[in-house]
Amino acid sequence: MTPLDERYRLLRAADEAHFHTCFYCGCIATEYDYAPPRAHWGAFEHHRQAADNLQIPACRECVTLLRGCTMGLLQQRRDVVQTKLAAKYKRAINVYLCWSEEEVEELDRSLKYSIAAGLSLGEESHRRANYPGFTYEIEGCRVAVSQAVVQPVMLFGERFDGIKAALEHAAKTYGISQGKLAQGLVQHNDNLEAVVHALQQQQQKQLEERQMNRLCAEFARAHRQSRRYVVNAVQRYLDRDESLTVAEALERLYQERVRHFL
Ligand SMILES: [Zn+2]
Repeated sequence: MTPLDERYRLLRAADEAHFHTCFYCGCIATEYDYAPPRAHWGAFEHHRQAADNLQIPACRECVTLLRGCTMGLLQQRRDVVQTKLAAKYKRAINVYLCWSEEEVEELDRSLKYSIAAGLSLGEESHRRANYPGFTYEIEGCRVAVSQAVVQPVMLFGERFDGIKAALEHAAKTYGISQGKLAQGLVQHNDNLEAVVHALQQQQQKQLEERQMNRLCAEFARAHRQSRRYVVNAVQRYLDRDESLTVAEALERLYQERVRHFL
């Protein structure tokens, strides 16, 4: 590690457990990141732009990801690196969120091996991209990193430590595949409750469609009509009157049309 640059104050972990830890992702720190970067220090000073002037223990990957980032504040740089980590390992993180360990156990051997590898990379990447940092000292002043950074995930009043635990619980409770739930998170701004609602509605709709098709097919057979004609006619009745059930629509179809053919 490079010695302290005098223009900067060293961010030092407050607890021994975090010595030599990357502040951004929790890996082993082998170098320093600078907020703002050393090449931009003069410009920040000149324009009196807000800067932390911190020398931050970081791992090689985070330092590389921050190349070209000219931001001067610790939190800004942390947000940039975590967004980049999440993007770089998007596929592995997706595997991690989509598969539960139980599901992987059920796979055949070759698939299990490749999914399991993706799963552990995904787990690690997810953890790094959500690393909350640690309590640190700058010139003897202690700065506690708010634990609120690790937001618990709430799902219908229940609290979960992370999104993965909430996904596993939702998959079991609502009988929806974990993969579908995880994919829904993108469309619903990471709101798992909204995903569950949307998928339940979809399930309900599919169930209703299956029921309607079954009843229409039975009706068509019984009255020697084409199934397509019956489905379309029922759909028209339902469009006109939303309060009708499929059975009631079929009864109307029988009374108003079919009865006269027979
Ligand atoms: Zn790092």
